[in-house]
Amino acid sequence: MKKVLSFVLVVSIFWLPTFVYPQEAPRLPDFKIQQSPKLQTGFVIHGGAGAMRRGSLSPSQEKFYREKLKESLMEGYNALLNGKTSIDAVEVAIKIMEDSPLFNAGKGSVFTANGKNELDASIMDGRTQNAGAVAGLHKVKNPITLARAVMEKSPHVMMIGDGDEKYAEELGITLVPEKYFWTQQRWDSLQKIIKKEKAKKSRKESIESNLQGEFNNKFGTVGAVALDKYGNLAAGTSTGGMTYKKYGRVGDVPVIGAGTYANNVTCAVSATGWGEFFIRLSVARDIASLMEYKNMDVQKAADTVIHKKLQDLGGNGGVIAIDKQGNIGISFNSEGMYRA
Ligand code: ASP
Repeated sequence: MKKVLSFVLVVSIFWLPTFVYPQEAPRLPDFKIQQSPKLQTGFVIHGGAGAMRRGSLSPSQEKFYREKLKESLMEGYNALLNGKTSIDAVEVAIKIMEDSPLFNAGKGSVFTANGKNELDASIMDGRTQNAGAVAGLHKVKNPITLARAVMEKSPHVMMIGDGDEKYAEELGITLVPEKYFWTQQRWDSLQKIIKKEKAKKSRKESIESNLQGEFNNKFGTVGAVALDKYGNLAAGTSTGGMTYKKYGRVGDVPVIGAGTYANNVTCAVSATGWGEFFIRLSVARDIASLMEYKNMDVQKAADTVIHKKLQDLGGNGGVIAIDKQGNIGISFNSEGMYRA
C-alpha cells in the first residue's frame, strides 16, 4: 500500500511545474495519465481555466501560486492518507484556495458588473449521490463549507442568497463583511472591462464578446476530485463566477451535473470555464454518462465532452475527473488550466 501511495505522491509533484505556465491546450487526444488499476486513493485539484502569460508574473508571484497550489494539493492528499473521506479532502483543499486572494473563489473572487462579489460553490458525495450547492453569496467566507452543510445538514440540495446566508449564520459558519472579498487585482479587471464595454457600446459590439475576451485571460475557479481508501468518490467546485457577470447571474459551479458531479459507479468531475456552456451541456454528468452507458474510460469521456461537444457549441474551459479505480481524466480546450 505504501508503494502505491508514494506513486500517487510522485505523480502529483511531477505535475507541479504545469501549474503556473499551463500548456497550450492540445487537440484530441489530450495528454493521458492512466494509473495502475490497483490504486486505492487519488486526488486532483484545479485552479481554473484560462492562462496567465509567461512573463506576466514576477518570480515572487509565481512562487506564491506554486506554493498555494501545492499546499492545497498536499492538505487534501494527506487528509486521504490519514483516513479522511473524499468529501473531507475536497473540502479542505478547496478551503485553502478560497482563503487565498490568488484564486477566483472566496477571497479574491471576481466582481459583478455592479461591483459586488457573488460566490457559488457545490460539493457531491459519490457514495450517496447526495449533493449541496450554494449560489449568490456575499458574506460566507468559505462557500464550500456551506455547500457541504446544505448537503449534510439540510434536506435540500441548493440554497441561494440571503436565505442561505441566514442558514450559515444559524449553523455558526463563518461570515465576513463584504469587503473581505475585495482585491485590487479583481477590481482593476472589472474597471478594465467596464472601460472596454463603454467603448464597445459606442461601436455596438455585444457584452458576450467582452465576456469571452475577459474569460480567455482570466482564471481562478477552484475544484477538487478525490477517491478515498474506502472506494468513495467526491467532487467540489467553488467560484466567484465571471468578471462583469450580471448581478444575480448563476454559473455552472453550483449546478449539479454541470460544474460538479460524483457517482461511485462512474467518476467524480469538477469543471471550470464559461459556465453558461457547461450548464447547457450538463458537462460533468455527461462525462459520467459516457462512462456509464458507453463504457468509455474517464479520459476519453472527458475529451469527448470538452473537445467535441463543448468545442462545437463554442464554449471553453476544462475538467478534472477521477474514476472509481483512481484513473484520472484531464481535458481542456482553453489556453490553459491550472491543475495538479
Ligand atoms: N465556471 C465559472 C462560472 O462560469 C467560471 C470559471 O470557471 O472560471 O461561473
